[in-house]
Amino acid sequence: MATIQWFPGHMAKAKREVQEKLKWIDVAFELLDARVPMSSRNPMIDEILGQKPRLVLLNKADMADEAVTEQWIRYFREQGKTAIAIDAQSGTGVRQLAAAAKEMVKDKFAKMRAKGIKNPRPVRALIVGIPNVGKSTLINRLAGRHIAKTGDKPGVTKAQQWIKVGKEMELLDTPGILWPKFEDEDVGYKLAVTGAIKDEILNGQDVAVYALRFLSAHYPERLLSRYDLDDIPADIIALFEAIGRRRGCLTAGGGVDYDKVAEIVLSDIRTEKLGRLSFEAPALRT
Ligand code: GDP
Repeated sequence: MATIQWFPGHMAKAKREVQEKLKWIDVAFELLDARVPMSSRNPMIDEILGQKPRLVLLNKADMADEAVTEQWIRYFREQGKTAIAIDAQSGTGVRQLAAAAKEMVKDKFAKMRAKGIKNPRPVRALIVGIPNVGKSTLINRLAGRHIAKTGDKPGVTKAQQWIKVGKEMELLDTPGILWPKFEDEDVGYKLAVTGAIKDEILNGQDVAVYALRFLSAHYPERLLSRYDLDDIPADIIALFEAIGRRRGCLTAGGGVDYDKVAEIVLSDIRTEKLGRLSFEAPALRT
């Protein structure tokens, strides 16, 4: 897991580094977490990418609510962007990438051909995204071999190399690393719940409160069955206590161990014990 401390200077540098790479590429792959596509987005991405053709990749779709992912794909389509659901870890959806990238640049390549270039070069792509969204996993998947993870800190530079992906695509071997939207508390919680930011950064109980409130509102049946509850108490402390008693998370004094409950709930979410979950939907205001 990347530990990056973002300061205004680092953000400016990260932005500059991505923009420098844009001159080498035809298309940017904007990697988002399918469970939190808005919160895992860089707030300045439109400005950073400018007019560069962009393919939105909803990664970790294996962990997201399929119906909600479909809504997101439609949402992006309505905005004139192509979005594809993928699972970089297993490779699901990844085979579509080269074809989709080629489609995005067909006008540019048609112009190249019109100028007399008979065999245009492969489409060149760059992966951009916030830490932990799956950039290295996707690069390795596309490369079909393991590539050492480097350049994970803004400012770490090395010679750029192209990875060949079949005959029709080349990928820059170092991704563009961008920062998430820190200013918004909800965004922080969503990134913490999905494991994009380290647990030490936010208080575990706070994150679990956020998650349990969300699940109570949007996936109540999952909570009922997972924790064998008769109902879901509206009061969050009562909900912690109900789960804690079911799970035997008790302190020496017989009270509920809230830290332990928080740990169990977050671990259950991240290991899919509560099923596939999406924490943001285009139509859902949370
Ligand atoms: P990076 O910081 O953006 O390069 O992210 P990594 O590639 O290191 O991935 C962060 C974590 O997410 C790792 O534990 C990966 O195994 C996991 N991961 C990446 N892609 C997927 C995916 O599509 N599905 C699932 N379930 N996990 C993924």
